Amino acid sequence: MSDDDELTADRLVALTLALEQRRTELQRALEATRDDSRPVELELSIGRLTRMDAMQQQQMAAALRQRLETQLAQVQRALGKLVEGSYGQCASCEEPIGMARLLVKPEAPFCVPCQASR
Ligand SMILES: [Zn+2]
Repeated sequence: MSDDDELTADRLVALTLALEQRRTELQRALEATRDDSRPVELELSIGRLTRMDAMQQQQMAAALRQRLETQLAQVQRALGKLVEGSYGQCASCEEPIGMARLLVKPEAPFCVPCQASR
């Protein structure tokens, strides 16, 4: 592991702040899309095409929310690892994930090779 990959105190603080900000953003996005993913009411007096549109939009919103929830879970796991002191370690091979990757994606649970092989 090179010095560039070292998780210094300053870097941990910066990554913690980045993760907390990410968590807030994801929570807001989930809040904002909550109504969009409600099932379309069938008795709604709208035309068939409009209803199909609405259902398609609802499915897209549901897929988006699922992605947001997955990301939020990763962010929360990463914050938990920061508390435990195991942050920055790949969840698969237990090697350091590497600073370059963590700076881009602080919630990344896997190192680049492990992520690529999944
Ligand atoms: Zn790995």
